[in-house]
Amino acid sequence: MAETFQIFNTRTRKVEPVIPITPGSLRFYSCGPTVYSYAHIGNFRSFISADLIYRTAREFGLDVSYVTNVTDVGHLTVDDLSDPAGEDRMVKALNSKEGEQFANIWDLARYYTKVLIEDWKNLNLLEPTVRPRATEHMREQISAVQRLLESGHAYETDQGIYFDVSKLAEYGELSGNTEADELAQSVRDVVTDSQKRDPRDFALWKKDEAHLMQWHSPWGWGFPGWHIECSVMSMSYLGEEINIHAGGEDLIFPHHECEIAQSESLTGKTFARHWVHTRFLQVEGQKMSKSANNFYTVRDLIQSQEEGGRGVDPLAVRMTLMSGHYRKPFNFTFETLKANIRHRERFEEALKRVESAQEQALAGPDELGETLSRLYDRALGAMLDDLNTPEALAAVIEGVKLILSEGNTLNASSAVSASGWLDKINCLLGIIRADHDLVQSTDKSDFDQKVEHLIEERQQARMDRNFTKADAIRDSLSIMGVELMDTPDGVTWKQRSDLD
Ligand SMILES: [Zn+2]
Repeated sequence: MAETFQIFNTRTRKVEPVIPITPGSLRFYSCGPTVYSYAHIGNFRSFISADLIYRTAREFGLDVSYVTNVTDVGHLTVDDLSDPAGEDRMVKALNSKEGEQFANIWDLARYYTKVLIEDWKNLNLLEPTVRPRATEHMREQISAVQRLLESGHAYETDQGIYFDVSKLAEYGELSGNTEADELAQSVRDVVTDSQKRDPRDFALWKKDEAHLMQWHSPWGWGFPGWHIECSVMSMSYLGEEINIHAGGEDLIFPHHECEIAQSESLTGKTFARHWVHTRFLQVEGQKMSKSANNFYTVRDLIQSQEEGGRGVDPLAVRMTLMSGHYRKPFNFTFETLKANIRHRERFEEALKRVESAQEQALAGPDELGETLSRLYDRALGAMLDDLNTPEALAAVIEGVKLILSEGNTLNASSAVSASGWLDKINCLLGIIRADHDLVQSTDKSDFDQKVEHLIEERQQARMDRNFTKADAIRDSLSIMGVELMDTPDGVTWKQRSDLD
């Protein structure tokens, strides 16, 4: 088995060993999604890579602090420029057709965060140590911007606060973006601030009194630039220096490049020793897009057919998404998905065989144990070597085949070894058994129906002059975040926002 955990570092463009900053422990941050819609399979391919880093490091014996955030403000639609522009993604979603079902932007953020965590559980991703939200760390973001202004790394214009990239020689090191690239990008037709000193400078804070999510700052009302949130949340929970910072390859520039610039200017230290990026996903060889009709959210695949999904085993989806190496572009095909559905059926069969063999307690020597143990070492060794998932999966498939080939002659002692092996493989890769029963969709209308039903019950209680019961129902609605308003036309309700 490999003696070290090594992984490709985008910043140095080399596979390098992961060396704990504090012996025996690992500090790991992975960029989470912007919660403005349902997550698609491409998003989850990179979240699964992060999950596998977490699992592999744990199996290697490291004590891992794993932080992955929820972006619930500040991510603009034109996000491939050094200084993002356009509309806020969350505001745009609220103004769309689907947005009509939400009372306000906070309600939308809450809903898609809940849905994200359901998908997360369904695909057997482990819960992070902390899952912070950008909107819950506003004070730290404002303070970081203030410190960058004080140290001369940032400056103020009428429209916002900008990071001055000329102050940092390393800017561009991660993405390899040259001056020429930047110039090409800056001629694109986007609204820019004429007071900016350099087109490459990016916003730390946007002054905006009309934005739907705004906070008071020393520079008036406004909202943070997207990049600053991950810098401060990583530092808040993991300290100024961490081992690994991960995300999808679309985050290399500008998001991660800007995170490095801000963080390293704040502390004078290396922000993250490793930068790990998962490559894009295609579907049947094509770019995944709604217009090409090949766009799949996680729930499109795993929800039951009655709910409009395809009813696919979530762990088969997970296995498919990890069947290609994270550093190669991945082609998602239904043929691969079908093959993995079959693999998963064999895993289930192996679990059953092993269980019944233990009950039957057929005597005999443990002929399987040693081979399976070697196959576990092979799988772990593959994962420790730059997350070689295809090789790790091959070892698992071989082990399951061996267990099944024993048929009804599987004796009790081999069954005990096989059971332990399946558990260990599950800890490492999360593909043998689901940690949760399928979490069904939290349909917005279910919530509405429940609220409406409780309101009716309360009305009835009031008519019966049972005010104790009526008050109790009002209290439980309040716990659900529902505020009742008695109007001349009857009772109306709204969901409380965090601002109230
Ligand atoms: Zn981030």
